[in-house]
Amino acid sequence: MATPIITDGSTDRAREVPPVVLPANPRLFEERAARFAQLAPGHPMGVYLGLMAQICRGQHAAFGARPAAPLPAAAIEQSRNFGMPPLSAQGHARAPAWRDDLRDIVAAVRAGAAPAVAATLDRLRALDDVSLEAVADRVLSGTTLDDDAALVPFVGAALQVYFTRQAAALTAADVSRCDVPTICPVCGMRPVASLIRIGGAQANLRYLVCALCHTEWNMARVKCSSCEGDKGVHYLSLAQDDAADGTQAAVKAEACDECKTYLKLFNQDKDALVDPYADDLATLALDLLVDEQGFVRSGPNLLFHPGSG
Ligand SMILES: [Zn+2]
Ligand SMILES: [Zn+2]
Repeated sequence: MATPIITDGSTDRAREVPPVVLPANPRLFEERAARFAQLAPGHPMGVYLGLMAQICRGQHAAFGARPAAPLPAAAIEQSRNFGMPPLSAQGHARAPAWRDDLRDIVAAVRAGAAPAVAATLDRLRALDDVSLEAVADRVLSGTTLDDDAALVPFVGAALQVYFTRQAAALTAADVSRCDVPTICPVCGMRPVASLIRIGGAQANLRYLVCALCHTEWNMARVKCSSCEGDKGVHYLSLAQDDAADGTQAAVKAEACDECKTYLKLFNQDKDALVDPYADDLATLALDLLVDEQGFVRSGPNLLFHPGSG
């Protein structure tokens, strides 16, 4: 349901803004694969980005391969009445379909995989269902162990497919009462990044993009996406643009002095193809820069595991 709000920025005016936008693009993962493939050539992490393109192609195949599992009626009722995320990443009883999504992704990447990747995929294939569910729980709670690290992009990719499909089956009315602005109203996960879109009802507004289910929700640009403070927010970028604060960059880190966290902000007005997951992994140098200044990243990228690249 659209709610009139006052937007920030230079064109302040009242306008109908969708507070929550559920995932609706059936080519989401295919488009991300194309973006990774575009970013890979000549990039210092090109091999890794190329692997990510393959994973996203597998995600696209899996996404179209099966319908959403039946939605949990009781959880949706609780969401409508009490504003609880209906597909809580950590509380939701996952249907076995996510493991089929994982098998599709593994099959798509396994053909022609480099030896180290092939070994990881064979390890994944050998895990029984109980072990896979345990790895999934750790990925969703952000507590993966060193031994699991190489599995994270594949398990994370499968969980994204599953939760995105489930989120796409919801209606806006199912989530309209969720009002904790710093977490996803559908699954309770933190955002991977902020996105400013061009065109449509979301144009020129900041939306947070869920790291898991691709739901987007609106938040005023002046606020920190982690603590909602508006006193210490500033931007850092790698681009050598004319403005000293990097305002012309398509990718910026929004850092907050109040809670000492940061999250990246992607602006499609500066680069129409920028993708909050792909361009995030292609700009890890910006993470290093911001980390060095004492800020901690506030949201995960489920395709990333330390030590890649
Ligand atoms: Zn979500
Ligand atoms: Zn903050």
